[in-house]
Amino acid sequence: MPHSYFDSENNSHKSFELPGAKPHYNPDRPGQVEHIFLDLNLDIPKQSYTGICTITLQPITTGITRLSLDAVNLNILSVQIDGIQQSFDYDGSKLDIRLDPATEAGKVVKIAIAYSVEKPQRGLYFITPDKHYPHKPTQVWTQGEDEDSRFWFPCFDYPGQLATSEIRVRVPKSMLAISNGRLIETQEDGDSKIYHWLQEQVHPTYLMTLAVGDFAEIEDKWHGFPVTYYVEKGREEDARRSMGKTPRMIEFFSDKYGYFYAFPKYAQVCVDDFIFGGMENTSTTLLTDRCLLDERAAIDNRNTESLVAHELAHQWFGDLVVIKHWSHAWIKEGMASYSEVMWTQEEYGNQEAAYYRLLEARNYLAEDSSRYRRPIVTHVYREAIELYDRHLYEKGSCVYHMIRAELGDDLFWQAIHTFVRDNAHKTVETIDLLRAIEKASGRNLLFLFDQYVYRGGHPDFKVAYTWDGDSKLAKVTVTQTQVKEGSSTDLFDLKIPISFGYTQEGKPTDFKTFPVRIYEREQSFYFPLPEKPQFVSFDAGNNYLKTVALEYALPELQAQLQYDLDPVSRIYAAKAIATKGGLEAVKALTNALKSDEFWGVRVEVAKNLAEVKLDQAFDGLVAGLQDENALVRRAVIEALSQIKTKASYKAIKPFVTGGDPSYYVEATAARAIGAIALVNLDEESKEKKVIKLLNTVLEEKAGWNEVVRSGAIGGLSQLKTSSEALDIILQYTKAGVPQALRLAAIRALGTISAGQTPVNLERILERLDGLSLETFFLTQVSVVVALGQMETIKAAAILNALASQTPDGRVRRMAEEAVQQVQAKAGSQQATKQLREELDQLKKDNQQLKSRLESLEAKSASN
Ligand SMILES: [Zn+2]
Repeated sequence: MPHSYFDSENNSHKSFELPGAKPHYNPDRPGQVEHIFLDLNLDIPKQSYTGICTITLQPITTGITRLSLDAVNLNILSVQIDGIQQSFDYDGSKLDIRLDPATEAGKVVKIAIAYSVEKPQRGLYFITPDKHYPHKPTQVWTQGEDEDSRFWFPCFDYPGQLATSEIRVRVPKSMLAISNGRLIETQEDGDSKIYHWLQEQVHPTYLMTLAVGDFAEIEDKWHGFPVTYYVEKGREEDARRSMGKTPRMIEFFSDKYGYFYAFPKYAQVCVDDFIFGGMENTSTTLLTDRCLLDERAAIDNRNTESLVAHELAHQWFGDLVVIKHWSHAWIKEGMASYSEVMWTQEEYGNQEAAYYRLLEARNYLAEDSSRYRRPIVTHVYREAIELYDRHLYEKGSCVYHMIRAELGDDLFWQAIHTFVRDNAHKTVETIDLLRAIEKASGRNLLFLFDQYVYRGGHPDFKVAYTWDGDSKLAKVTVTQTQVKEGSSTDLFDLKIPISFGYTQEGKPTDFKTFPVRIYEREQSFYFPLPEKPQFVSFDAGNNYLKTVALEYALPELQAQLQYDLDPVSRIYAAKAIATKGGLEAVKALTNALKSDEFWGVRVEVAKNLAEVKLDQAFDGLVAGLQDENALVRRAVIEALSQIKTKASYKAIKPFVTGGDPSYYVEATAARAIGAIALVNLDEESKEKKVIKLLNTVLEEKAGWNEVVRSGAIGGLSQLKTSSEALDIILQYTKAGVPQALRLAAIRALGTISAGQTPVNLERILERLDGLSLETFFLTQVSVVVALGQMETIKAAAILNALASQTPDGRVRRMAEEAVQQVQAKAGSQQATKQLREELDQLKKDNQQLKSRLESLEAKSASN
């Protein structure tokens, strides 16, 4: 149990390091692993396998008599070195082998370990139908990252060791087995078939993979290389729809990274019950089958395309250029996330890419403000998987973009080419990226890395602007509000362009841009200009990771919202306008919602309109319900659900009853109906009507990934005092309910718990307690999410039990953080209660005082 959760140095941010966190280093290396050969025999009905793992090792020194391998919960049968039986010790996590004779430097040894595994808990997963889910496909797949390969074969399990690999596997004849590299042989033998795959380029153990199933195989090509999609049979069309851009993406990334795709094929296998979105195993990416889009889902789901781009980008950043240690994982995750931006730019243009970057930045900013702040590079943690957070991915992506902004496009790509070329088939650390940048561009970007990579945080800028007409001077005052007054810690030192925009006949015609160095807490800059500008763009291009609060007069903000070419600047202007409030603000935002050419800005404007608490905002929003873009309709409905009136209920209801082309719009509407009804129940029959409406959705709208029905569950969960809504949600947490819907129902238990009676609260806790014993990763995550929203200390007890039992580091960390949340809420509840009691006492005392005063006065009067 963490008791020092708050960082003592910085009170406003929680500490990333949980109790038990310690520095992690790569182990000493007794030798270089040259090759790993797994020869496996799967017994799928028994969920077990036997195997021989042969490791070819080149010893670094003479006289090594012991080797220690990672091997967790394997049944080790025998160990041979060069055909000679060796003795070994095995404690369930480390396999210690005695070498007799001892090694000779440079003389290769072959270590052959015979082993078996039954019902593995991690590393290799057997997916089979059961009585609750009789239609589940039979599949076997693996997941190595970060340190789980040791659960399916003995190895030196850290990314600093690169070797070629080979997997030979016997499976039932009806099934396909897919693995890294190229298929060198297949062989039929009675009812079974042997697949033999060889990966001839070196890679780390965490990228070794195997996927087995009765898959449909869809062949695509890129420059003659096979590009193959494997999906459950019957989903061939969805496969093409979801992954069909892969060959173009391979072309694009080969060009951008300046390195031809390095492996003999690229396969993507969509598997059931996958515990990540995707995993970039070398030349063989595994994806969750939930990413497969049907026609309607493809209307407004861009996530799958981004996922495909992300995992593909790893084939260079991660698989070709391998990180030496997990602490440098941002090099690959940051670039894979930034490659989503690059692909968005290539496919959909600059505005979309800019908005994509803003959304990534916000993901990081949310983690930074609500969870913890940490340096991107740190080797102090409990488990490496804890590093896989929004700092690693999204902040990492923002850092790559800032490098690009510092160098300019040409030098940036030259630096990336240099980095990839110089480090192909090798391992890297952050310093290698800095060196490649310096080699290619002559620039030393250590100052940038120091501020954004090696330490936590980002600048929070407040920007004020005034115009002095007499002297034709623009004054811009910039404050770094993350820095306390009189302090210099957390200061950023950056060169930021400030741009003044001029318009003519409703079009931006001219920009005057000045780079300024911002390095103090508060600085004022004066710019002599020929003419009064219409608007001011701080950080023109919005390349730097930051937050901004604009303090300009309304006309400048309106002009910026209307004319700034950068959608991110328009979005900042919309926010500042909403903060000002008033009818003029509503007018400007309503106009932008109608007329901005980019849907991303319209989405943000809708959000901001709801923030202006004026009736006129409603009229502006309602018009947005007709927007041609589903993402805008979604945002408008969400915004309307904040305005909890009968009118907004009426406006949204048709999307629940009549539907929308987009699943997500329907789901949002169902959720919104519940949220509005919660505060707008002027009669009890209204609640019944809403429940009936949402129940109809549950009965009639089964479909793709259960998005719509999950929305209905979300709507019901808003009816926090309703016992009936709770009963329905509980029904959907039962085994046998389609998984996506069931997970939504489990999470909804947390939301609805807030207003329930003590008896119902017990029912919720009991159900979540039962569910917490299920071992499936996504179920555990949903249970943690639900419990984390509760305000009773009993929820913390279940979370603690889950944290101590779960085999998954991500669940453990989430559960521990949720315990903190629950304790804080339960604590503040108690504190509020105590405060109320004290207040009551004070009131009583006060009354007594008053009475005493009055009686004193009466006495003095009588004197
Ligand atoms: Zn990734």
